[in-house]
Amino acid sequence: MIPTIDMDRCTGCGNCTEICPPGAISIKEEKAFIESEFCEECGFCAPSCPCEAIKIDFPTLYKK
Ligand code: SF4
Ligand code: SF4
Repeated sequence: MIPTIDMDRCTGCGNCTEICPPGAISIKEEKAFIESEFCEECGFCAPSCPCEAIKIDFPTLYKK
């Protein structure tokens, strides 16, 4: 499950872009954007967000 970003919460701080191993997250117009084709579904981005803007369906994540 690729994370989803709550645009209302995202401040565009960039924390998630720095922590994402494959560099799948970029900031566009001050909001985070995940390029799904590059996401490895590692889940690292969610706890890096100070605004709790990144949501992951954890049951799906742990099925891997
Ligand atoms: S789940 Fe992992 S690979 Fe996917 S956007 Fe988050 S940090 Fe990057
Ligand atoms: S860490 Fe959170 S608030 Fe910062 S850019 Fe990423 S999604 Fe937005």
